[in-house]
Amino acid sequence: MWSDEFNGTAGTAPDNTKWEFDIGTGTNGWGNAELQYYTNRSSNIKLDGNGKLLSGDAPSKEAFLHLGMYQERANSAAVVHLHCLHAVAVSCLDGLNADDVFPPITAYAVMQVGKLALVPYFAPGDTALAEAVRKLAGKHHAVLLANHGPVVAGTSLSSAVYAIEELEQTARLMLLLQSHSVRLLTVEQIAELNRRFPG
Ligand SMILES: [Zn+2]
Repeated sequence: MWSDEFNGTAGTAPDNTKWEFDIGTGTNGWGNAELQYYTNRSSNIKLDGNGKLLSGDAPSKEAFLHLGMYQERANSAAVVHLHCLHAVAVSCLDGLNADDVFPPITAYAVMQVGKLALVPYFAPGDTALAEAVRKLAGKHHAVLLANHGPVVAGTSLSSAVYAIEELEQTARLMLLLQSHSVRLLTVEQIAELNRRFPG
């Protein structure tokens, strides 16, 4: 009996002198028309550099957006980035307040999203975009990439998801209300929310 500690460098495949791909021939119980997909593609087999075998494809080219948030926000456990319709629509509007994109229209927008900062436009994959996010991440857990979409950090995956859902709803409300006269929350009402629901 032997064991493999999978102690290779992060991102490498397991030792191919010990492990091989058995994708089956259809005659030995593997690959015999089951509702499974057999592959010898190694892109989903990775080591983490600390003795663990990981699985999963490489992260998207936008992973660095998340990294900027994690670097500046030590208590973040999750970062969510979406191309959701209404938030992207708002990100394309001219004349936005770059420090605080949303007007204070609902208590939940104030509590969950806070001050949404606008990140200037860069092409997807441009590392300058990551740097621009990192610069704002210290003060904002939610940012909106111009002509692109939102990035939100949370202390858990569910809190980041709730916040980005509220952000999308608020973007939708903002668009619905664009041609209407709106009663915004007052400075006192916002201060009270921040007092009652800090953080
Ligand atoms: Zn994106």
